[in-house]
Amino acid sequence: MHPTTLSLAACTLLIPLSALAEEHAAHEHGHGELNLAIDGQQLLIELHAPAADVIGFEHPPRNAKEQQQQAQALESLQHADRLFVLPAAAGCQLQQQQVQASHEAEPEPASAAAQTRQPAAEHDAAHQHSDIQAEYAFHCQHPTELNRLTLTLFAHYPTLEKVSLQAIVPGTPDRSELSASQPTLQW
Ligand SMILES: [Zn+2]
Repeated sequence: MHPTTLSLAACTLLIPLSALAEEHAAHEHGHGELNLAIDGQQLLIELHAPAADVIGFEHPPRNAKEQQQQAQALESLQHADRLFVLPAAAGCQLQQQQVQASHEAEPEPASAAAQTRQPAAEHDAAHQHSDIQAEYAFHCQHPTELNRLTLTLFAHYPTLEKVSLQAIVPGTPDRSELSASQPTLQW
């Protein structure tokens, strides 16, 4: 996809990066995705990751303990400064953020053969996947100073091995892969 085909002018979250959704990789544990777009003084960062890596499980919470675990994980995603570091000289201020967990419904089996005697809970645990999605909108005083991004999220999510990064920033490669040992993208 060529950067100029993207409209980055929208002032709300969710819209600008949705054009990249077609390239959203398949759900793979240990593998996250991060989209980055700069439009004037606006910086948008969108993170997708398997709930297994961020929350620790992917089924809907089954009890108070799991509910708390999920709430804490989602709350921790609201601290953007724990997840990535931007150059201080750019003067970026977080303006808006949105964090959500999506539980993917398993497709209903069409045939009677699928109605096994397996207990429903076990069946779900084996097949259900979910992702977390977090979006952050920053206003940057000096966007020309935005020339690198370091992911610090690996320290918090040890099972997350790599994050594929798509950056709509002039001069960056279309795709890069960041990891705990190579957490910085420079451009
Ligand atoms: Zn999964």
